[in-house]
Amino acid sequence: MRSYSQNNIAPRDTYNRPISDLRVSLLDQCNFRCTYCMPEREFHSEYQFLKKHQRLSHEEIFRIVKIAVELGVTKVRLTGGEPLLDKNISKLINLISEVKEIEDLALTTNGVLLRKHANDMMKAGLHRITISLDSIDEVTFNKMNGNRASVKKVLDGIEAAEKAGFDKIKINTVIQRGVNDDSIVNLLDHFRGTGHIVRLIEFMDVGNQNDWKMDNVVTAKEMLKIIEQHWEVIPLEKTYAGEVAKRYKYKDGEGEIGFITSISEPFCSNCGRVRLSADGMLYTCLFASVGTDLRKLLRSDASDHEIKNVISSRWLERKDRYSETRNNQTTDITEKKIEMYRMGG
Ligand code: SAM
Ligand code: SF4
Ligand code: SF4
Repeated sequence: MRSYSQNNIAPRDTYNRPISDLRVSLLDQCNFRCTYCMPEREFHSEYQFLKKHQRLSHEEIFRIVKIAVELGVTKVRLTGGEPLLDKNISKLINLISEVKEIEDLALTTNGVLLRKHANDMMKAGLHRITISLDSIDEVTFNKMNGNRASVKKVLDGIEAAEKAGFDKIKINTVIQRGVNDDSIVNLLDHFRGTGHIVRLIEFMDVGNQNDWKMDNVVTAKEMLKIIEQHWEVIPLEKTYAGEVAKRYKYKDGEGEIGFITSISEPFCSNCGRVRLSADGMLYTCLFASVGTDLRKLLRSDASDHEIKNVISSRWLERKDRYSETRNNQTTDITEKKIEMYRMGG
């Protein structure tokens, strides 16, 4: 096994990819029950989520962030579960925002608690917010989130974020055939001209419980065809190598749309994302079945250097390129994959 201490430069994995992004899942709980992520049948009132002592503390997360920065990370995203269920999230943001090497500090949320947190998070130094909203149609949205919130609640959250000073908010929308593909146009119409950027995400086979089938995936090409019946759009150049979204702008100048084409055009070749779960497991791919237990190390007397060496060694042997190798109908891995709410979306 190659080790970081033998080669004290930012590690590259077996496909020569550096570590660039750290996604941190603050907690495994959520106030939604999205059918494709945490279906109610599984995540019912008796479901045992992680207890507080099983979750990493802010100090432990911050320690990993600083170590990850030494390994080359410049982008950090706080996610979950629902990260805004962490009442003290602004304190963590404040700590991370002081790390000068972090060029991009972002958050992904379902938006309903933004009214409570948006101002404090802006003051604490959060750079960007992504808000998930799967449909602008009440009935469809309710069905998709397990009847937990109205569209209005999320729109209120978006407004609160705007008022706090966040701009170019990204709106994440997972499209499933026969579920919400008929409301793409209305959703785009709502956000045209607002400066916010809707990102249409191909439904992915993450985790084990969303009954994923290729037939339920609406590809970006199909979505584009639907969109082009209403507006003229023009493809945009990538703004940086490794940019995940395929971007288009409306020809009439009313804004931008992004597509996340994890299924139809995977982007593993540029993937430098590493994920830290709420219980301190490190995962090097969204579709991983196994991770590296950093909590154990954090709670031992391991030094930062030792922890850095463990992360680096794991990265050096990384071979992940799941999306480029998935087969057509379903997945060909036999082990259970880790759920997305757990490892951080
Ligand atoms: N609760 C927050 C939220 O929903 O924004 C953050 C965590 S959530 C796991 C992060 C993102 O993952 C959301 O935008 C969600 O729509 C997306 N997601 C979850 N399951 C997905 C799937 N099977 N395919 C594509 N995107 C998915
Ligand atoms: Fe919660 Fe986000 Fe998963 Fe929906 S997608 S259940 S909001 S973690
Ligand atoms: Fe990265 Fe894994 Fe997704 Fe490929 S499948 S882009 S390696 S997270």
